[in-house]
Amino acid sequence: MSNRREVAAHIDKSRPGHVREVERVSTYYGSNTFSEDKMRKRVPEKVFTAFKEWQNGGEQICSAFADQIAQAMMEWALEKGATSYTHWFQPMTGLTAEKHDSFISRNGKAQVIEQFSGKNLILSEPDASSLPSGGLRTTFEARGYTAWDPSSPAFIREVEFGKTLCIPSIFVSYNGEALDKKLPLLRSEKAVTQAAERLLRIFSKDDVSVKTTCGAEQEFFLIDEGYYRLRPDLQLTGRTLLGAPSAKGQQLEDQYFGSIKDRVLNFMNDVEKEAYKLGIPITTRHNEVAPSQFEFAPIFEDSALAADHNQLLMDILKKIARKHRLVCLLHEKPFAGVNGSGKHINWSLADSRGGNLLNPGSTPHDNIQFLTLLTGIISAVYTHGDILRASVASAGNTHRLGANEAPPAIMSIFLGSQLSNIVDAIVNGRPVGADDDNRMSTGISFIPDIERDQTDRNRTSPFAFTGAKFEFRAVGSEMNISTPLMVINTIVAEGFDALSDALEAAGENLSVTAITAVLQKFLQESKDILFEGDNYSREWEEEAARRNLPNVVSTAKALEAYISKKTISLFERYEVLNSSELHARYMIWLELYNNLLVIEAETLEELVQTEVLPTAYKFQREVGESLRVLRDMDQDDSIPLPIHAVEDRIEMFAHITEDIYIVRKHIHKLRDMLKIISKKSDQAERADYLTNDLTPHFEHIRKHVDHLESTIADDLWELPKYREMLFNL
Ligand code: ADP
Ligand code: MG
Repeated sequence: MSNRREVAAHIDKSRPGHVREVERVSTYYGSNTFSEDKMRKRVPEKVFTAFKEWQNGGEQICSAFADQIAQAMMEWALEKGATSYTHWFQPMTGLTAEKHDSFISRNGKAQVIEQFSGKNLILSEPDASSLPSGGLRTTFEARGYTAWDPSSPAFIREVEFGKTLCIPSIFVSYNGEALDKKLPLLRSEKAVTQAAERLLRIFSKDDVSVKTTCGAEQEFFLIDEGYYRLRPDLQLTGRTLLGAPSAKGQQLEDQYFGSIKDRVLNFMNDVEKEAYKLGIPITTRHNEVAPSQFEFAPIFEDSALAADHNQLLMDILKKIARKHRLVCLLHEKPFAGVNGSGKHINWSLADSRGGNLLNPGSTPHDNIQFLTLLTGIISAVYTHGDILRASVASAGNTHRLGANEAPPAIMSIFLGSQLSNIVDAIVNGRPVGADDDNRMSTGISFIPDIERDQTDRNRTSPFAFTGAKFEFRAVGSEMNISTPLMVINTIVAEGFDALSDALEAAGENLSVTAITAVLQKFLQESKDILFEGDNYSREWEEEAARRNLPNVVSTAKALEAYISKKTISLFERYEVLNSSELHARYMIWLELYNNLLVIEAETLEELVQTEVLPTAYKFQREVGESLRVLRDMDQDDSIPLPIHAVEDRIEMFAHITEDIYIVRKHIHKLRDMLKIISKKSDQAERADYLTNDLTPHFEHIRKHVDHLESTIADDLWELPKYREMLFNL
């Protein structure tokens, strides 16, 4: 479709009209995963046992056993119709990567057989030298390997014309340095669980094993594919660089939790089906705040698996959308003036019996173990707020953090009034009194009284305690959650260990009073990170400054936390990332930020030069001609014109001309700056120049282009408008 109007006319036709039979989810859930059950049925018991031991941190399985698992996996995949396999991994681009290999090998002259060895299952050398390594592979030994991660089940990705067996993997250099996002997450999981187990031993003689859990709420936008094709800015940068606001946006608050449109519901059902086959436990779906914005949330799982699943879900969202002639926009800020998209990471700790360790229980004041864990987390965020902030730094997220729709760049913790009171009592050495009124009366006899949520809602807090978990809300919708999870795990490991050190030093069989005294010391030190008020307010910014809490608004500056002495020492101590791995990440993410901004600038320049301005010239000519006509008529006394008719038209012409002039001025400036930037090689310097000198021109250009858009005749304007993209679904 070549123009906006055709797209609008076509939208109704793209709605699938048939009702499909829906199967019970439990009958096909996980059918595309090589789950443990399936493995167990297909390999000898001793192979399965060895595999489980390896998975739980024991020795790697021997090659003979690996061969048997590979054979079983391949047979299963072939039965399902797969033709190829791939190590599926998560490079530092934040996306996923795959390089497919077929199962065939030569057997005699013109024949092949299907084969898959344990060696190929466990290790692959995809080369993949064009993926970013941040210098980790520039030395003489530049190889990169993908290695099977047995903690996450293999799965089949199916498209209409083929199926591929995907083996979740890590990506490492010859020297064992992490080239991906998954390996550091796995290492951090080990760090935090060991630290938690040590801390728990102070409270209980029984050995418990701990793991972290995560549920990531995923927000996204959907727009009709026809509009997407007419917006080069969306295609190349993921966001609209131009666009006048729609008269109706989200002011009426009629979208959030509203009735879901049929076309969207069809899409959602399809997404769920695909996700369920892959064992992704999606459980809620709803309309979000902005028009055409939606959310999916899963039931929580082990963190590393949740990270894989979120990557897969994003992939599914994009692919299924195309099937419905929609495009799923995962960018953090596709449209100015309406809410952007985030990803709330819900994070908690569970013991081996599945019990949630961050559940305060019915009497939180007595629950000293819970308070100890809580103190460790508070202390961690206080000490390492800067790296937590860095873990969500990206070009896209820059538009959200601190823009009154997402938590600001200042890290702080919200606890809710009840817990706050308890912490306050500990800090001030007051007795922790019982809270009598734990129930909220509904006042209606047939509706049960609701057990009051231990936590009030505070949507503005970046790191909020919400009942039995923390919710990290500063994460961007497009991000791979492995990185923020890795950071949370690592800083919390240190917080827990510091507490263990102090408690162990205080003696054995400590009384509640003795434990509380230790907590008091930690909480007194770190209480400045606690904030219950409105994080969006100006007052909080000022208050945070008084408390010396970092407020790093700039993405590039925030990333510097990756290479601070404090971070390097922490991450090296816990063997999550060494100094060169951290430096590599800093460089890659800084360069990614810079490259994205340059792409935005170049896209904007081209779009304005070749689409916006030519349209503006046309309209300028039309107005000029109408002015000439008016002037002629004004000479003729027999035609009575309003007195200021000519002046009015002149004013209009002048406005359009002025907009065109200003836009062109800034476009020239932008082009000059792009030349300057191409000569700068230092990435930090580039970032500084792009952020402070170049991007302000985006705003100027946008302001005047958007003004032109709302002035120029609708039939001349070619770029799909906000009201169309946001409301025509
Ligand atoms: P909220 O109303 O606070 O957003 P929900 O019950 O809707 O809470 O859950 C939001 C997300 O939090 C879901 O993805 C859910 O699986 C996840 N979640 C709930 N409990 C935990 C937990 N113990 N650990 C990790 N994630 C959790
Ligand atoms: Mg939530």
